[in-house]
Amino acid sequence: MFDFQTPIQLIPGVGPAYLKRFYKLGIKTVGDLLFYFPFRYEDFSQIKKISQLTPDEVATIVGKILQIKTFRTWHKKMFITEAVIEDETGTLKVIWFNQPFLMKNLKTNDWISIAGRLSKEKNGTYFIPSHYEKIYQQDFSNRRETAGLIPVYSETAGLSSRALRFFIKKCLNQTRFPIDPLPLFLRQKYHLLDLKTALHQIHFPTSLINAEAAKKRFHFENLFILELIVTKQRLQLKQYRGFYIKSNMEALKKFTDKLNFQLTQNQKNAILDILKDLQKDKPMNRLLQGDVGSGKTIVAAIAALMTVKNNYQVAFMAPTEILAEQHFRTFTQLFKDFDITIGLITSATTQISWNGLVSILTKKDFLKQCAQQQIQIIIGTHALIQKNVRFPHLGLAIIDEQHRFGVEQRKKLLENKNNFIPHLLSMTATPIPRTLALTLWGDLDISSIKELPKNRKPIITKIITPPQREKVYQFIRSQVQAGRQVFVICPLINNSLQLEVKSVTQEYEKLKKEVFPDLSIAMLHGKMKTETKDSIMKKFLNQEIDILISTSVIEVGIDVPNATVMMIEGAERFGLAQLYQFRGRVGRGNHQSYCFLFTETSNANSHKRLEAILKAKNSFELAELDLQMRGPGEFLGKRQSGLPDYFMEALKNLNLIEITKKEAENLLNTDPTLNKYPLLKEKIEQQLSILEMLH
Ligand code: ADP
Ligand code: MG
Repeated sequence: MFDFQTPIQLIPGVGPAYLKRFYKLGIKTVGDLLFYFPFRYEDFSQIKKISQLTPDEVATIVGKILQIKTFRTWHKKMFITEAVIEDETGTLKVIWFNQPFLMKNLKTNDWISIAGRLSKEKNGTYFIPSHYEKIYQQDFSNRRETAGLIPVYSETAGLSSRALRFFIKKCLNQTRFPIDPLPLFLRQKYHLLDLKTALHQIHFPTSLINAEAAKKRFHFENLFILELIVTKQRLQLKQYRGFYIKSNMEALKKFTDKLNFQLTQNQKNAILDILKDLQKDKPMNRLLQGDVGSGKTIVAAIAALMTVKNNYQVAFMAPTEILAEQHFRTFTQLFKDFDITIGLITSATTQISWNGLVSILTKKDFLKQCAQQQIQIIIGTHALIQKNVRFPHLGLAIIDEQHRFGVEQRKKLLENKNNFIPHLLSMTATPIPRTLALTLWGDLDISSIKELPKNRKPIITKIITPPQREKVYQFIRSQVQAGRQVFVICPLINNSLQLEVKSVTQEYEKLKKEVFPDLSIAMLHGKMKTETKDSIMKKFLNQEIDILISTSVIEVGIDVPNATVMMIEGAERFGLAQLYQFRGRVGRGNHQSYCFLFTETSNANSHKRLEAILKAKNSFELAELDLQMRGPGEFLGKRQSGLPDYFMEALKNLNLIEITKKEAENLLNTDPTLNKYPLLKEKIEQQLSILEMLH
């Protein structure tokens, strides 16, 4: 007998070659294999007698082989295997193409079951099987390939659906199933199949209805676990206390008076939300969403100001050195009349500024001043969460581009001291549709900035098809000649750093050698060292580079007001919200800006999707649209979300989301530690990586 933990190589028949292929599919144990679900079923539920067959209908027949032979066609290009099969109603000619090895397996007088289609041709009528299997001693009960619903799996070279069916069937019959982690009362209440039945039915369903029921059970389970994790985290957070940070209206007024622009209404609302949160004795847990350039930094600065005025420190973490430096400069500027000491810590530098004056400090001095609360706002990269960095009075943590950080990193920043934890403001330019946000974060507080500051000129956006390419190149050249700069984004390439580097390099070579040999061009990709990337970005900022080519992953979230052209290759491969983000990197200065969406596809749907960008008012709208058009998996993007496919699939079911959410809350209210449900507890531990995705 196997159990879920049995290594896959212990299944008879799995040798080193198969093992490798299984690993390729991420299957290492019997449990992994049993949870490798089919993505569809072939319907061979129609069992017929030979005399009942009608042309072109898919059906399964059973019969005895009267004769069988293999020969080559006259031009020797193809093997044909021809057999005559008999049942009690008649005989039938069966033809297989190009499967000479069949002769080894099938002999005269064998019984076989074949699924396929009757084909009526000029030169006769014959049956073309898509599946066959031998039947021993006329026992039809164990058919796996040709009767009922046949599962189809995503395959890898050398590991076909047929082989997967073979191994899965074997495991289903020989595995000791663990106790079902889903509590019985829930299974009864929602009519869910138990684990063992569901696994049997999802692989070898006795009907499509049963297959659906099995799927529903797994979706329920996945969402339920997810909701348990989310709810548990939320309840935990509720036990902590936050620091009372009183709004200082005088400082706020002084600050806004000094800005040379008016805050937008959305900014004001976000600020109000935050000020209210800070005055509660519960820690704030707020996500600030807003398009690139919508002005989130000012909002963060005001939260920081309030915190400092209450004698607490602020930590502000950004994903890259460039961004951290930019924030440091911005804050230095914004607070130059406020008598506040601001620090910058990255792996490259430690600096402080006070009333506009910047000085470079040794790391040792910096850490000391930080620990003594002489530095009030500390801005930095991951360097901020190193062990030796201490903020004794941290009242507020701000995280920019929060999805770029893992839970562990965020947790480190939010260390709990005597049951107090700092307030958290996280910011993102990647909007999440409300439905998804609710699932993933429950009642997390969200503020959204949906309007851009009024002084922005709309960015002229065009979809560019191959014949128009040359003209656009000419235009780009004229922009560079006028002193402007250009971003180029290379097509999205899934999960392969290697290919990505290749694509960036190719684009670079092409533009450098063929299109713009006289311009200064540079590239950025994920394989480069951080210092190299940073130095290239700096050169771009200083206008030493005209055209910067990068992958989509390198989020160039910085302000380059002189860049006026955003050119995106393979635009149809990106999510709409993502394209919108790219576009937001231009249009920050006084010059008219342009965004060119290059696409080679003639697919009408792709064009329709792209056109949505031309019309959309903001990225929130696009995010909803993307979700509808492509589903959550595509929307969040595997790389970004890290959520497994089956979660994504389950996330489509809003009704189930609501039910599982309610049940998770109920269960945790009655049994907060889940001591009565050790199996659920275990599942939660296993799935904790899902938290990476969460706030
Ligand atoms: P993001 O939301 O992408 O972080 P930033 O905070 O960097 O955006 O803001 C982008 C630019 O817009 C900055 O130069 C900032 O000074 C400016 N800005 C912010 N708010 C306003 C406003 N209400 N009116 C005009 N400009 C603004
Ligand atoms: Mg920003």
